[in-house]
Amino acid sequence: MRGFLVIGNKAVTEPFNINDLPGSAGRMDIMCRCIAQALFISHGVRKDVEIYLLLCGGTPFRAVRVCGGEIRNMAPDERNIAGLIRKALKNSSRRWKRSSPGIYTATMDFDELINELIMKYSIYYLREDGEKIQNVVSDLRNPLFVLGDHLGLSHEMEKVVLKHAEKVLSLSKVSYQADQCILITHYELDKFEHEIM
Ligand code: SAM
Repeated sequence: MRGFLVIGNKAVTEPFNINDLPGSAGRMDIMCRCIAQALFISHGVRKDVEIYLLLCGGTPFRAVRVCGGEIRNMAPDERNIAGLIRKALKNSSRRWKRSSPGIYTATMDFDELINELIMKYSIYYLREDGEKIQNVVSDLRNPLFVLGDHLGLSHEMEKVVLKHAEKVLSLSKVSYQADQCILITHYELDKFEHEIM
């Protein structure tokens, strides 16, 4: 499995206006693009990928989990994905609850989510000044990559990630948008996996 966790610093935790994703929804457009880049390839879905979002623009925080192996009727465009997240946020259950095939939400703070993820994945933090991903790609087993939205990670969150991360990894010295980082990460891992096959 490959996983991604994207921190949505301002992303709202309640149903939002689908016509104002970048504004009143707190850059929900970034979250939707990250889901699209994590899960979709040309005419297909990556079934071995999960993406988690932590929506921090309300109290309490809400986590969203989208599983490539389970989704049905999701299209890669922002509005379609936003509609499914909006529906998921109508439920306020504390534990993971499914709102559509492959889409789950739960009330969770950052520590709780990371503590759950370390049971399943090896955590890698994506940051411009990390070690080159190309140098370690052959060692990655069940990786989950943590990245921020346009605001990055707060100092407190970064401390928690660094406590659990195997490594801090860089894609290059250029600061990319979050969804671009997901695409580049897939590209680096795909290249390696196809070379050895
Ligand atoms: N101003 C924000 C900051 O200083 O953190 C920029 C955030 S950037 C748009 C979004 C996220 O993508 C970052 O938090 C980081 O996790 C990741 N990122 C961006 N460029 C990267 C790179 N070259 N290598 C690794 N991660 C990168």
